[in-house]
Amino acid sequence: MTGVHEILHRVFGFGEFLGQQEAIIEHTVAGGDSLVLMPTGGGKSLCYQIPAIVRSGVGVVVSPLIALMRDQVEALRQTGVRAASLNSTLSYREVSEVEAAVENGLIDLLYVAPERLMGDRTQELLSRTELALFAIDEAHCVSQWGHDFRPEYLQLSILRERFPEVPRIALTATADKPTRREIVQRLGLADAPMFVSGFDRPNIRYAVVPKNRARQQLRRFLDEHHQGDAGIVYCLSRRRVDDTAEWLRGIGVDALPYHAGLDAFTRRRNQDRFQREEGVVIVATIAFGMGIDKPDVRFVAHLDLPKSIEAYYQETGRAGRDGLPADAWMVYGLQEVVALRQMVEGSDAGEMRKRLEIRKLDAMLGYCELTACRRQTLLNYFGESLPEPCGNCDNCLAPVAEWNATEASQKALSCVYRTGQMFGAGYLIDVLRGLENERIQRFGHERLPTHGVGADLDPYSWRSVFRQLVARGLLSVDLDGYGSLRLTEGSWPVLRGETEVRMRRDLRPGRTGAKRKPKEAVPPPDPATWDEALWEDLRTCRTELAKAQKVPPYVIFHDSTLRAMVELRPRTLDEFSRLGGVGETKLRRYGEHFLAVITAKEE
Ligand code: ADP
Ligand code: ZN
Repeated sequence: MTGVHEILHRVFGFGEFLGQQEAIIEHTVAGGDSLVLMPTGGGKSLCYQIPAIVRSGVGVVVSPLIALMRDQVEALRQTGVRAASLNSTLSYREVSEVEAAVENGLIDLLYVAPERLMGDRTQELLSRTELALFAIDEAHCVSQWGHDFRPEYLQLSILRERFPEVPRIALTATADKPTRREIVQRLGLADAPMFVSGFDRPNIRYAVVPKNRARQQLRRFLDEHHQGDAGIVYCLSRRRVDDTAEWLRGIGVDALPYHAGLDAFTRRRNQDRFQREEGVVIVATIAFGMGIDKPDVRFVAHLDLPKSIEAYYQETGRAGRDGLPADAWMVYGLQEVVALRQMVEGSDAGEMRKRLEIRKLDAMLGYCELTACRRQTLLNYFGESLPEPCGNCDNCLAPVAEWNATEASQKALSCVYRTGQMFGAGYLIDVLRGLENERIQRFGHERLPTHGVGADLDPYSWRSVFRQLVARGLLSVDLDGYGSLRLTEGSWPVLRGETEVRMRRDLRPGRTGAKRKPKEAVPPPDPATWDEALWEDLRTCRTELAKAQKVPPYVIFHDSTLRAMVELRPRTLDEFSRLGGVGETKLRRYGEHFLAVITAKEE
């Protein structure tokens, strides 16, 4: 039997296993079943790919993401692994060819769509073929509790009965307890060990900024940190997706829209361009994302608030799968809070569902208003603990001051009360600040005792106060659709002076707090030795090689490998072979090409 280390090294060009990979691989090679919970980017694929190569027979990978099978198979072929797929996009002839190759023992890994797998023809093929394993990718699709339920996945329970000797490995990045339980039960994995990896994504930098002209903020964020980078911008509505994409194109960003209202062809084309080209920004509703496994997404920006921390973590998790630094950036303001509260509280879902959604939204809003380390809170939410603040989120990098906002809160709440609980924040702020406009006079509100009591704070600060009051449930939003604010049970203790209210002090955009030096999970390139021109040349070389084969650039080499070329400047094939991500096959195919680029720069 070939050693698993040898394969890691020779085929995939990696020096070490990550996290629990080795334990999982050994367990599978020995024929055991398992459930693998690993965050996106944790390295799940190798957990079944290496055992499939080591064990005799075909490794069958069940995956719901037909659109991505082609790229996954291509990435394997590039490393010299014999891979193929069976799905509905193939012609009859192509299917027959794949089947013949499987029967003749010419395939190590076969990717199959679930509905295809359960068809008679495939079942017959499998029954006369030696099988190395079944890998069930995106295993949470079997769960009705989860958010990506696929009815076809339910039939996968048959695999255990029909092929009792073949080891099964189920993998997912979704780890909440109910989903986990359902996977175990439906796939019959009660006796199988569960391999749970840490959910931390240290290379992602989390930041939430108070909204103040969101587009300009996005523009500055892109200009300062992500020129020419691939990224995802999430918006809540289709309309905003279209508008934002158009606006971004107007300022020179290669942006494409993606939402369920676009026809299938356009969706497919936009997703393809994002996946296969460099530097494309996709602007999308949450309809976009499932199964995006582009490794070099450098940022995920939220212009609207996700409805839960799970959704937020999943969406931001699409950044930086290659382990290089990436940003999860979000703008967040009073309007979103009001809109989301209205949406959730006004929904006609059943009482239980509604309570659950409100709880999830509360947790999400709490996350936005944090003054402490964001990563600690996120991990805590998923049942993990991080003993020290992370050093790589906005709150760690520029500590946020808290202030005692009890008095300001009392003023705000009493203003709500005295004006009859029928106005939105904009009007209330005008009253607090003592404006005497026509509308205020029409209601006679210039005679209220609260009129002008808030002249000491500027409108920006008042919006921050109202936002935090709504976020914490100290004010509620009327369902009238006008964003009127009303008192809640929680308002009274504040008004009576029984509770203290502490708030984060939002800095006005443009004014930044004292910045600490980031404690980078992955250090940025050293400017003293970094050669940007060489980097660009290497990227061009990669693009050309990719175009010639009609494959995405990252299947040739990931950014991390290109970066290592710039930093280590290999001069010989032997040196080149020691870069992470360079295995035997890629060395043979591409070594000379890239060495030529590097030496050309030396002359
Ligand atoms: P997942 O499916 O869990 O999201 P992948 O299997 O796509 O993750 O792996 C994520 C990234 O990590 C890929 O770029 C992959 O090449 C890389 N990777 C996986 N295992 C290793 C390893 N042992 N050493 C270095 N890089 C690895
Ligand atoms: Zn932190």
